[in-house]
Amino acid sequence: MKIKSFHPPQRVLMGPGPSDVSPRVLAAMARPTIGHLDPKFVELMDEMKSLLKYAFQTQNELTMPVSAPGSAGMETCFVNLVEPGDKVVVCQNGVFGGRMQENVERCGGIAVMVQDDWGRAVDPQKLEDALKANPDAKVVAFVHAETSTGALSDAQALVEVAHRHGCLTIVDAITSLGGSPVMVDAWDIDAIYSGTQKCLSCTPGLSPVSFSPRAQEKIRNRKSKVQSWFMDLNLVMGYWGGATKRAYHHTAPINALYGLHEALVMLQEEELENAWARHQRNHLALRAGLEAMGLDFVVPENERLPQLNAISVPQGVDEAAVRALLLSDYQLEIGAGLGAMAGKVWRIGLMGHASNPRNVRLCLGALDDVLGRMQAPITRGVAVDAANLHLAA
Ligand SMILES: *Cc1c(COP(=O)(O)O)cnc(C)c1O
Repeated sequence: MKIKSFHPPQRVLMGPGPSDVSPRVLAAMARPTIGHLDPKFVELMDEMKSLLKYAFQTQNELTMPVSAPGSAGMETCFVNLVEPGDKVVVCQNGVFGGRMQENVERCGGIAVMVQDDWGRAVDPQKLEDALKANPDAKVVAFVHAETSTGALSDAQALVEVAHRHGCLTIVDAITSLGGSPVMVDAWDIDAIYSGTQKCLSCTPGLSPVSFSPRAQEKIRNRKSKVQSWFMDLNLVMGYWGGATKRAYHHTAPINALYGLHEALVMLQEEELENAWARHQRNHLALRAGLEAMGLDFVVPENERLPQLNAISVPQGVDEAAVRALLLSDYQLEIGAGLGAMAGKVWRIGLMGHASNPRNVRLCLGALDDVLGRMQAPITRGVAVDAANLHLAA
């Protein structure tokens, strides 16, 4: 058999990411490839840095996209800021905190784990206690928006505690950036990484990062070389750096960067505050519909992420069969539970371009139909009306 071109189906992506990509971003990515040292491309890189500074709300000069997915942004932060023997306090309230521990240990660091319940925000008091018990800790790491559970933590409060104990901070903002407030300078975050496929309406594969002058100082004064050649920021800066001539480090993913540039232009046009408000408004409409149907959220109300709604699967319902029917009959993808929550929850994303009233209505109508057909214990025919009340208000 001769293999032909691949034509993916047109889906609606309402899972934990990737989320729907704006057609403007896809169109930008189809433009002609130019050289990665072409003066026109260098112009795009400079614009990219200022657009990312806006998205992160920072003046940090060391702000750029890592040429690989969010996990590589995570690893870039850890390999540069953690030296062998360094003690790092990691707050864990879901799957991604566990990956932070893995990163610390692979850097030769000592991870001190602070555990919170899955589905809850990180408790600043527990961090405070851990830092009192470990006065030699050098870094504190936590996930701002835990995509595995739908919990949002108070990043500003956690950073304040860390700094009071003389620690640098590494913050995972993969799912929060563009969907919830992320204020790198106002909150005094030292190292932060994000992803393009969650609330930025872009394709997966790039990881915006930003480092404070304090973090850069620590990187410059390392006793040992960063063990990753590709992620060593001292080298990457030769390509992404400011005034100096751009030197070849690796071939930038040119067309992917066109896409991120367009996504960030769209964010600037909408304005951050309006993007946050849109995510909140659509979340409240979806919530009204889900609750009218009789479905329950996993996370307490004041700790919920607007862009990731984790709901409990009703008793006796085959959760995978529901997702399969949504996909086959509605072209609609929602997420399954991850780690300890596998089989127990669905994760409904309203991220970036996908956070819109049409998707709220589509998802509620589809769930009403599919759960109804499966004889699930829900109230039928009320969800879309409940959401509409909210969308009209
Ligand atoms: C999606 C996600 C990641 C991983 O990003 P990839 O692009 O899949 O590597 C890490 N942390 C959080 C909180 C995420 O939501």
